[in-house]
Amino acid sequence: MVRLSENNLRVPSMKVLLAGGAGFIGSHLCEKLLEMGNEVICVDDLSSGLEENLSVAKTNDNFRFIKGDITEVVEVNEKLDVVMNLASPASPKDYINYPIKTLEVGSIGTKRLLDLAYQNNAVFLLTSTSEVYGDPLEHPQTEDYWGNVNPIGPRSVYDEAKRFAEALTFSYYRETGLQIRVARIFNTYGPRIRPSDGRVVSNFIAQAICDSDLTIYGDGTQTRSLCYIDDQVAGLIKLAFSDCVGPVNIGNPQEISIADLAHTIIRLVGSKSQLIYEPLPIDDPVRRCPDISRAMLHIGWSPTVSLEVGLGSTIDWMRAKLQRDS
Ligand code: UDP
Repeated sequence: MVRLSENNLRVPSMKVLLAGGAGFIGSHLCEKLLEMGNEVICVDDLSSGLEENLSVAKTNDNFRFIKGDITEVVEVNEKLDVVMNLASPASPKDYINYPIKTLEVGSIGTKRLLDLAYQNNAVFLLTSTSEVYGDPLEHPQTEDYWGNVNPIGPRSVYDEAKRFAEALTFSYYRETGLQIRVARIFNTYGPRIRPSDGRVVSNFIAQAICDSDLTIYGDGTQTRSLCYIDDQVAGLIKLAFSDCVGPVNIGNPQEISIADLAHTIIRLVGSKSQLIYEPLPIDDPVRRCPDISRAMLHIGWSPTVSLEVGLGSTIDWMRAKLQRDS
């Protein structure tokens, strides 16, 4: 049985299979794991991830990239210590455009990775989501809250895929004794978030840099709580290498309305943009904020990067990216 702790990360190194490693969060996680001395095999079908996200990881001899879809057979003939599942479309724009694929990735894909972890007697980390809480009726959301999800709405393809993935992961834990860790990721932002990703931070920053109007969906009073990528990765690593099964909320409890976020980004960019209002998407959650007591208590994690500092570095990265791509 693999026993993991933060202190034995460097010696001996772990062999980690990271599905979805070319994505926004996955690619940062690859780099951090490599920096700690682990070997990383990244599997990604590049449907929403980008090979350019792996340019730093690829310079490390302990890194390998396999282009592959986790809903198909994932063949790795090496002994794995940890299997991490970050593979899924995660932006509403992406999962609403690929509803069936999103459900397949969360169900069939997660099952394939669970089987792989079981065959290797490896630890399995599932990255679930705050979307399991749907449009929450309790605030802030603790892990004990069961959620308020419309099971047939357009967002259900992601919400129910992740809820199924959690149920399946816990079934392996109970039935087979597989070591599992379940994270519920809240809204995360930072460098490498795709400018055309469709999510609020990337849309607003790209719009503000171009002095285009910022598109507020609804009246802008809905809230989100935004976690900077470095904090998110630190939380996932702490969880993966802890003894905590979870589920554990990994997010920043600093809550902000979408209208206030728009004004903050306009100010930080120094933009001339105005706000325009568009219809609120169906089932868009009204409020979202993690209770992170469990993360603080069980894995000793809390975020450290303030919204203004995190937005500042995201804006710098996005300016450079838009310039490069123009
Ligand atoms: N949103 C917005 N304008 C945009 C993109 C998103 O007002 O250009 C809103 C969206 O309706 C939601 C919030 O911002 O209320 C966060 O949306 P996002 O797609 O980033 O993530 P979600 O938390 O909904 O998955």
